[in-house]
Amino acid sequence: MSDLRDLYQEVILDHTKHPRNFGALEHPTHRASGRNPLCGDQLVLTLDVLGGRVRDARFAGKGCAISTASASLLTEAVKGHTTGEAHELFQRFHRAVTTPTGEEPDVSGLGKLAALAGVREFPVRVKCASLAWHTLEAALAGASEPVTTE
Ligand code: ZN
Repeated sequence: MSDLRDLYQEVILDHTKHPRNFGALEHPTHRASGRNPLCGDQLVLTLDVLGGRVRDARFAGKGCAISTASASLLTEAVKGHTTGEAHELFQRFHRAVTTPTGEEPDVSGLGKLAALAGVREFPVRVKCASLAWHTLEAALAGASEPVTTE
């Protein structure tokens, strides 16, 4: 288990230091911004969706290590997938990070996102990890108001 923990730490550190898909798409089909006032995380997510499939995803903004790693992992995870699959991934992710301490989170189908399941032990961090996902949901729903975790 400690090896797995180290691996998870490594994934988060890697995505914090080298965020993937950082920036903004020039002609996004979907866009949403989100903020987590509790920590000060802010991000803007831009998507290129065609025929119900996410062709490209980028994020920009500033935030703590967890929120940055989560947004980076999100863009990698949803690219090439349908919006339905992205939505399902959000639900799986949300279930994993809100699993009560003492219970084993179900990380099946999460891939690298499983690295973030450890935040469930730190309720404040759950918001950092979830911000990008709530922003994704807002973008896909066509929301024009910024989302907030509060
Ligand atoms: Zn944060």
